Amino acid sequence: MKNLDLKKVLGIIGFILRCPICGFRNNLETMKVVDSEQVEGTPDARLVIHSDCQKCQGSVMFTIGVMGPEITSAAAVTDLTLADTQRLRDLDPITANDVLTIHKAVQKFKGDFKKAFKR
Ligand SMILES: [Zn+2]
Repeated sequence: MKNLDLKKVLGIIGFILRCPICGFRNNLETMKVVDSEQVEGTPDARLVIHSDCQKCQGSVMFTIGVMGPEITSAAAVTDLTLADTQRLRDLDPITANDVLTIHKAVQKFKGDFKKAFKR
């Protein structure tokens, strides 16, 4: 990620540092890059970042996309821990067939959901 405009990215991160749940001002150390991708031969890049609030323990995941002079960002409050995001990151995406399979299984299911989903 050597060509990425870090100044712009840090500007966005500085804006997002405030916890959307409690408003506490976090610092960069609470943010961990979960995934990053750079378009080869360009400064364009996408980052996925996870942050835990030091005050309320809430978590936020957000993406930062850099495409030429434009920077986009989207954030969402999540109950995923950093370990969850790292574990789930490498799984294949859910397909329409996966959803149909689960839908059919749930329709036929006659048991106790709490017991079925316990580890
Ligand atoms: Zn908070």
